[in-house]
Amino acid sequence: MRIFDPHIHMTSRTTDDYEAMAAAGVRAVVEPAFWLGQPRTSAASFADYFDALIGWEPFRAGQFGIAHHCTIALNPKEANDPRCREVLELLPRYLAKDRVVAVGEVGYDSMTSEEDAVFAAQLKLALDVDLPVLVHTPHRDKAVGTRRALDVIREAGIAPERVVVDHLNELTVDMVAGSGCWMGFSIYPDTKMDEQRMLRILQEYGTARILINSAADWGTQRPAEDPEDGRGDAGGRLLRRRRGQGAVA
Ligand SMILES: [Zn+2]
Repeated sequence: MRIFDPHIHMTSRTTDDYEAMAAAGVRAVVEPAFWLGQPRTSAASFADYFDALIGWEPFRAGQFGIAHHCTIALNPKEANDPRCREVLELLPRYLAKDRVVAVGEVGYDSMTSEEDAVFAAQLKLALDVDLPVLVHTPHRDKAVGTRRALDVIREAGIAPERVVVDHLNELTVDMVAGSGCWMGFSIYPDTKMDEQRMLRILQEYGTARILINSAADWGTQRPAEDPEDGRGDAGGRLLRRRRGQGAVA
């Protein structure tokens, strides 16, 4: 089985993860730009990070036969720091690179007015450079944040089929399904969305416009371990269970 993980932060993962992912069948990934745990204090720090996403990280992935792509943006959490606002001026240069496949992650963390402004500016930029958009929904007040994100997307005039709204759950899937945007789900081993809940959503909504990912980032995750014991890549685990339960052919 060949697996594409459309949202995984490999910067925070070890080389062992790449090795296990390759063994599980992962052949391509998209790594969205996000926060690095320690808050950054200047745009220059982002430039170094973006350079790593288009240079060093594809090299790491390539050693395991995995094609690495990324999305570039000022993430919602750091949109609140005025020292990072200059990052918006760096973006056009990076969005023109071959391996950059979308603007993201944009959206909401705490739903501040600063986040509103940075989100709207980056949606406009996506329209200008004709790239799709990856939208992060907040972990707190998720339903309110998702509704607000859908409103801003609609107001921006971007085609919904060019937008993925990610980190969905049972409370937010319906509104995104109705919006025409793609629905993203991040599967975690211990918290938030898990495979069984995801299966129930797939049984209800089918597979159209749905993307399932590992996200990974700084928490516990098993991007891929042993594909035989059902603990492998989130997408792979799900496919195996889905087949086993006859949910979808
Ligand atoms: Zn992410």
